[in-house]
Amino acid sequence: MDSKVVGILGGGQLGRMLVEAANRLNINTVVLEKGELAPAKQINAISEHIDGSFTNLDDIKKLAKKCDVLTVEIEHVNTDALKQVQKETGVEVHPSPETLEIIKDKFAQKEHLLKYNIPIAESVSVESTEPALLSVGEKLGYPFMLKSKTEAYDGRGNFVVKDKSHVKEALEFLNDRPLYAEKWAPFTKELAVMVVRSLDNKVYSYPTVETVQQNNICHIVYAPARVNDTVQEEAQVLARKAVASFTGAGIFGVEMFLLPGNKLLLNEIAPRPHNSGHYTIDACVTSQFEAHIRAITGLPMPKGFTCLSTPDTHAIMLNILGADKPNGEIELCKRALSIPNASVYLYGKSTRPGRKMGHINIVSESMDDCERRLAYIRGESEKTPE
Ligand code: ATP
Ligand code: MG
Ligand code: MG
Repeated sequence: MDSKVVGILGGGQLGRMLVEAANRLNINTVVLEKGELAPAKQINAISEHIDGSFTNLDDIKKLAKKCDVLTVEIEHVNTDALKQVQKETGVEVHPSPETLEIIKDKFAQKEHLLKYNIPIAESVSVESTEPALLSVGEKLGYPFMLKSKTEAYDGRGNFVVKDKSHVKEALEFLNDRPLYAEKWAPFTKELAVMVVRSLDNKVYSYPTVETVQQNNICHIVYAPARVNDTVQEEAQVLARKAVASFTGAGIFGVEMFLLPGNKLLLNEIAPRPHNSGHYTIDACVTSQFEAHIRAITGLPMPKGFTCLSTPDTHAIMLNILGADKPNGEIELCKRALSIPNASVYLYGKSTRPGRKMGHINIVSESMDDCERRLAYIRGESEKTPE
């Protein structure tokens, strides 16, 4: 299994969990990231990693020299450099640089999805001026969401324009970034589906899950989503259709809004492992990380590999965010470690309030039982689950 070396652009927690999955299959990985102690580098001492940036052509060239396949754990990479390196060296890149180029610009992504008849919230490119925003407000109505087209993550490129009086503040907040406006989606739930695309362009979906964001950051995931079977299926069909419209192999996270009347809108796609797929490590036949490694190296993806481990499997994933007091989040981890059916994953990062430090997967035979365990872990109940 160790014939192909995989290069990963980015060395955060997603890279770390990709390295773990690859390690188990004797597939060697090389990580391109600044600093010698990046989370993904900490757990692979076999390779000499690259200390550099995934936006720098020369650093990407150095990585390509050591690898057969390049992949990403973050979309904000230098896609022109990836195209050039692919052409010059013949290194494989998954997903394709063209896919990454479209997806990393959220507005280009929206235009692409529209072309393929994927339902999205109405989106309009807008200049960073007050008159332009006021005219968009007339068109889309208030509130609307103002978003940065590029470099967006964890809601840091978003601003809710509640009414006319917030336009000025919105412009100050998103100062100088390329912008587009999105019609408000009055969702009842947010759903997500992990989709994996093989080298021979087959597309497989994981179960539909329910995500709860707090301050725009993914906080809790319920798997499977608490929706009826039709919505469960329709969300997977939509996610597969969206991913099928892109090129290149690998795992994709597809975020969706469920509207009143059970209508689905696609919010955005991540061309990489995704926070909403962490539950797969403990609750599915194959984790999203292993699925990605299999997909990009051409390993088999047998029947049912994206299924929940058993028909009764239920899971909750809780993100461990840096607490306000130093290492306060460790309390949460200790409580999780003290009960059955909870697994703690820490990412080897230094703590900062609100930073994603790790996650906890709770797996059981019913969602009620998962919720009881969650309540204990969060200190909302003192009754120790058995
Ligand atoms: P990430 O990549 O970390 O998921 P992001 O910075 O790309 O986040 P979005 O996914 O665009 O941000 O938005 C973050 C959250 O803001 C969404 O999960 C949703 O809760 C809310 N949101 C985004 N767009 C809309 C919209 N059009 N209407 C209502 N809420 C929205
Ligand atoms: Mg995003
Ligand atoms: Mg998002």
